[in-house]
Amino acid sequence: MARYTEAVCRMCRREGQKLFLKGDRCYTDKCALSRREYAPGQHGQGRTKAKEYGIQLREKQKTRRYYGVLESQFAKYFDMAEQMKGVTGVNLLQILESRLDNVVYRLGLAMSRPEARQLVRHAHFTVNGKKVNIPSYLVKQGDVIALVEKSRSSEKFKYINEANATRPIPKWLDMNRDTCEGKVVALPAREDIDLPIEEHLIVELYSK
Ligand code: SF4
Repeated sequence: MARYTEAVCRMCRREGQKLFLKGDRCYTDKCALSRREYAPGQHGQGRTKAKEYGIQLREKQKTRRYYGVLESQFAKYFDMAEQMKGVTGVNLLQILESRLDNVVYRLGLAMSRPEARQLVRHAHFTVNGKKVNIPSYLVKQGDVIALVEKSRSSEKFKYINEANATRPIPKWLDMNRDTCEGKVVALPAREDIDLPIEEHLIVELYSK
């Protein structure tokens, strides 16, 4: 399975925004973006203002990077979003939010989306009682996502649970911290997705 190999902090610096890919570190002054608030590379400090295409491209890249999705998969999600009823940009965000790795992160069962992806891959979760180790698995309304029994007592999940005890859970999800079970109450509406994404720019980019 293809995946990103670039140093993740470079992605934030490239987008000029925190993408929160490193868990705890993102909230400290060790964050690379706090120290070097310019794009990486030899010409990083000399980049000029982007034109229309550049702005749309950056919005798409930023969105892909938030969710850790590769180009081809992102394009497939866009096709799916176009075929659904409703607003394409909102449909696209709803699909991205429905990925199992994102849901695990949103439920506070991982410190970052990349960590959630890895934990899903290592089969720490079930969906409706069955083990699922596919980060791109799309959850549906009513699905129950749970930490497998033997992982509940592990030091790692104890730490994650404590660290995320006060992190707000989006209203489209319901979380029971005692049983480490979350439920998809409804698929997210646009106002439930708190990421600073201008999805219309992505739609414009793919419509060219
Ligand atoms: Fe991005 Fe986190 Fe690295 Fe900061 S520490 S640059 S927010 S991944």
